Amino acid sequence: MQVNRQLAESVRELMPNRRNNGQNNRPVSFWKEMDRLSGGPEKTAVVIFRTKGCSWYNFSSCSMCGYFNDVSDSVTAEDLKKQVDYILDQLDDIKSIKVFTSGSFLDPLEVPIDVRNYFMSHVGERMSRILIESRTEYLTGRNLENLKKYADSIRIAIGVESTNDNIIANSINKGTSYTKFVDAAKTAREMGFETRSYLLLKPPFISEKSAIEDAVRSVSMVAGYSSDVSINPMNIQRNTLVEKLWKNGQYRPPRLWSLADVILRSTEFGTEVVSYPTGGNRERGTHNEVPDPRLLELIVDASLRQDFSELRRYFENADLTGYREELESEAAQPYQVDFRRMTNKISSGSFFV
Ligand code: SF4
Repeated sequence: MQVNRQLAESVRELMPNRRNNGQNNRPVSFWKEMDRLSGGPEKTAVVIFRTKGCSWYNFSSCSMCGYFNDVSDSVTAEDLKKQVDYILDQLDDIKSIKVFTSGSFLDPLEVPIDVRNYFMSHVGERMSRILIESRTEYLTGRNLENLKKYADSIRIAIGVESTNDNIIANSINKGTSYTKFVDAAKTAREMGFETRSYLLLKPPFISEKSAIEDAVRSVSMVAGYSSDVSINPMNIQRNTLVEKLWKNGQYRPPRLWSLADVILRSTEFGTEVVSYPTGGNRERGTHNEVPDPRLLELIVDASLRQDFSELRRYFENADLTGYREELESEAAQPYQVDFRRMTNKISSGSFFV
């Protein structure tokens, strides 16, 4: 596994020291949204448990990840059980839940085994589908053993981000590798778990044109190890390296056209491909130069139904000349800049201060 220590240090410097945010016995958030964990669109609960956070934070963080803004160093196992109790009454007749933790549900230091069991016996038993997230290092036979009896109902989401180890190390600072992902996914699938692979569209330091090619290639490589692939276009989170670059005009989130392009080209790889962009059509999320609510709606709808015909029609009938010219001109630059943001900064005088 490759680690770029200089990059890791730059990311680390931006992370806040104080890590006691919010009430320890309440989740960061809980809501309901649509997903298709059981093979068709259905209402799905989503919870973000407040934990001590990702083990990678002890060293650094991924360059785009600001989940450390929500963690608390003082959360105890009892607090976590209270957070589980808190969501119990709100589940109604929901049958699927996505569990996020600002880290790894399978890291026993972040979510102790007895909390994991408590969650499964109180919430998991009521669900037909549960999505949990984990870094690759926690996907071992031993660590998964006590969840094996629930394997049929669990999909484990793994942040692969890219299958290019150079991008993983020098752009994302993920602290893992493609080989580790393959080993982890094989272990999980051999034990009967489903897997969702997360891919990041447009990591920093590469052009949008290269990012599209990287994402499509990555889908083709993870497809055989994934029940589905979730394409996550970059969204700018607080106190991250990506936010710093973005504020300086040195990074622009990917266009919605690029996301549509990746999705449409990825449908041929034999796995389900979904994308539910965070912050879509907003400045910090995936957006075209002119907001396009219809395109965003088509992307989400195609993801939910796995029917890409309308999205394809919209994409193929659009005039993409200006978009393609922008991608070409960006790709020709030695540094990836956000021209509009940079121009605004220069004209306001704030670029030189
Ligand atoms: S592994 Fe996940 S939670 Fe941990 S720093 Fe990276 S993106 Fe954030």
